[in-house]
Amino acid sequence: MIKTLHQYPGLANPQLRPRYAGVATFFRTPLRDDAQDVDIGVIGIPFDGGVTHRTGARHGPRAVRDQSTLIRRVHQATGVAPFDGLTVADLGDAWLERPYELQGALREIEEFFGTVHAAGTVPLSVGGDHSVTLPVLRAIARDRPVGLVHIDAHCDTGDDYLGSRFHHGAPFRRAAEEGLIDPRRTIQIGIRGSVNDPAMWQFSQDSGMRVVYIEEFDDKGWQWAAEEARRVVGDGPAYLSFDVDGLDPVFAPGTGTPESGGISMREAQRFLRALEGMDFIGGDVVEVSPPFDPSGVTAMNAANILFEILCLLSTSLRRRR
Ligand code: MN
Ligand code: MN
Repeated sequence: MIKTLHQYPGLANPQLRPRYAGVATFFRTPLRDDAQDVDIGVIGIPFDGGVTHRTGARHGPRAVRDQSTLIRRVHQATGVAPFDGLTVADLGDAWLERPYELQGALREIEEFFGTVHAAGTVPLSVGGDHSVTLPVLRAIARDRPVGLVHIDAHCDTGDDYLGSRFHHGAPFRRAAEEGLIDPRRTIQIGIRGSVNDPAMWQFSQDSGMRVVYIEEFDDKGWQWAAEEARRVVGDGPAYLSFDVDGLDPVFAPGTGTPESGGISMREAQRFLRALEGMDFIGGDVVEVSPPFDPSGVTAMNAANILFEILCLLSTSLRRRR
């Protein structure tokens, strides 16, 4: 120990340190390299080898760690205190030894999350581009398909693109084909933007996913959307995947494939809070690309979305125990 602390003997509690001090971890939780006895592990996935347009999401985890240092212990609106009685830790970044080889990298991510899952730890991740959700699902949903709440401007149920079946526009088609998600218990919210082909997201419709385009969300509102998500996904285990490009570019300019006319940050927060009580077994926030956002507002909003998801995961976990 370089310095013996007198005034803050409880330094082990990161909330007692000045929040601008020290090495930034997610929510200032302790950095651990072992998932054993960790209830919820927050994990960075610095990989953007699956983007089809602007890069930079590999820098997402660091930026979100930095912005998450302002987030406090208790959710002011719901009263949920995700750190109380649960061990929440920053498990570092999914280790990538072959970051330039797409399918190899996806296998490495799957292996990392397989270890986390085997320890009984609930994963909450920060991407990375959206291709990383597929290996996370492969690790935690291989025994049975799970439900999915998916916020995004894009359905991400595309197919082969420029010779690859694996990229950030296809994870949920692959996940459905591999039996990792149940399309009939899947809802996709915030969909918009121009398409190359009117049938670009036909797989979502054909497989039975509930697709909520931004117009329907706009007409009916966040409260209706949350009720619809509950109806579609039901009480069974579910995963929550939040692509920041689901937000309007005003709130999230730092992303690879921005689409005008999206969900506001306030709508997103109210929507997520209204999902409390559903059985979430994992979640992620993806597509934060800091190089396209010198203001840092994208990472700040992503950190706040991450906290909303952390609260949902903590409530679900307590309920299961
Ligand atoms: Mn996406
Ligand atoms: Mn997207």
